Amino acid sequence: MMHNLTIAEQIKGLKNRDFSSLELTQHYLNRIDDSKLNAFISVTSEQAITQAKLADSILAKGNATSLTGIPYAHKDIFCTKGVKTSAGSKMLDSFISPYDATLSEKLNSQNMVMLGKTNMDEFAMGSSNENSYYGPVKNPWDTKKVPGGSSGGSAAAVASHISPFATGTDTGGSIRQPASLCGITGLKPTYGRISRYGMIAYASSLDQAGPMTRTAEDSAIILNAMAGFDTKDSTSANKLVPDYTKNLSKSLKGLKIGLPKEYFSEGLDKGVEKVVMKAINDYESMGAEIIEVSLPNSIHAIPAYYIVAPCECSSNLSRFDGVRYGYRCDDPKDLNDLYLRSRSEGFGDEVKRRIMIGAYALSAGYYDAYYLKAQKVRQLISEDFKKVFKEVDVVMGPVSPTAAFDLGSVKDPVSMYLADIYTLSVNLAGLPGMSIPAGFSDNLPVGLQLIGDHWSEELLLNTAHQFQLKTDWHHLSPVD
Ligand code: GLN
Repeated sequence: MMHNLTIAEQIKGLKNRDFSSLELTQHYLNRIDDSKLNAFISVTSEQAITQAKLADSILAKGNATSLTGIPYAHKDIFCTKGVKTSAGSKMLDSFISPYDATLSEKLNSQNMVMLGKTNMDEFAMGSSNENSYYGPVKNPWDTKKVPGGSSGGSAAAVASHISPFATGTDTGGSIRQPASLCGITGLKPTYGRISRYGMIAYASSLDQAGPMTRTAEDSAIILNAMAGFDTKDSTSANKLVPDYTKNLSKSLKGLKIGLPKEYFSEGLDKGVEKVVMKAINDYESMGAEIIEVSLPNSIHAIPAYYIVAPCECSSNLSRFDGVRYGYRCDDPKDLNDLYLRSRSEGFGDEVKRRIMIGAYALSAGYYDAYYLKAQKVRQLISEDFKKVFKEVDVVMGPVSPTAAFDLGSVKDPVSMYLADIYTLSVNLAGLPGMSIPAGFSDNLPVGLQLIGDHWSEELLLNTAHQFQLKTDWHHLSPVD
């Protein structure tokens, strides 16, 4: 079946004319139609069919790029010209973007085929996809469970083979955590590797886009298309983009893997720990050396992140005032009423909670005590990693303290924040991180986290690919 092929295989299939882009696209659109996971906010069938026909004509002429005609799902946080871009919020429910994000443009320039826009937690705030205005997404392995968040629609789409890959964004774990909970491969690159232009901002100093695929090889193929400097994003790095597919087959003999002792303490589910330790043993048998390391400041990651991210979001989301941007309430009495009701009616509870925390922490007299303090803690977290990367090549550990939990089961926000304990430090330090399928606990997928030094995506992808040559977890699927 076409939907069981990886992107690498689909590229070959299109080239050999085993199937056309139109056949592939129609096949996925039918699967999306039949899916009951609520993974998409918008399905752009007509546009997809037009793009697929165009891709087929380019393929026939022989001037295609390698990704021409490959379908994908785009997280609804990326602006797409002429297509609704909601960020999972009522605030942007009627927003049709007048321009493309740089990432959208890059994928379009390869003549890829966008199937639609995926569901997500409102403005990317959440770890379960239950904060979406469009309703929760279901985990394809067990539809009573969450898929993780905030890129839950993207993760569920890839895991259930209704899209060969999807885009995601990761501010504090939103690519890696849903990848772990849905059993796929998710890569959050180094901060600045992929342009943020046209990616609706949550916390600008942390946000980073990345690929969500089934395999590490596919992740490398897609990162090639996504990465690169952009004059429209002053935080994107003017740094050469290597061919990420080139060094996937290097041996891991002598690779030094660090296990932070803080990542294996209380709070980590025993079933998850078992899977992670087994994967690390596999690496050892592939010739890697396992070294215990310490990231002493990682215990401060949750409090530091939950100051920095709300502060930046309170600033970024101030533009949604019903005048310049976003939903406008009916019949406002006066200007104040318009601001107040537009924002009260347009934003969901979690977003409001974070705006309030951020506005409070940034207010006069509190800035030094909260934001500045959190920035100092952030520096300490970065320095911990700097020290560790003098000793080891890659850090490994769990992605999430548990496998997927029941929809509706985590009721208080602070308990939800605990789900991010192993992912936040990576964003605070601007490092690249991955989640790869490593096994199952109680029939639910568990991811292994790989963390590298800045700009070490090639090494991470190589490390992940070698594991996938030896294991089958990434090939297991909840669908036929
Ligand atoms: N779960 C984290 C949060 O709610 C991270 C979200 C993200 O990476 N976008 O902020």
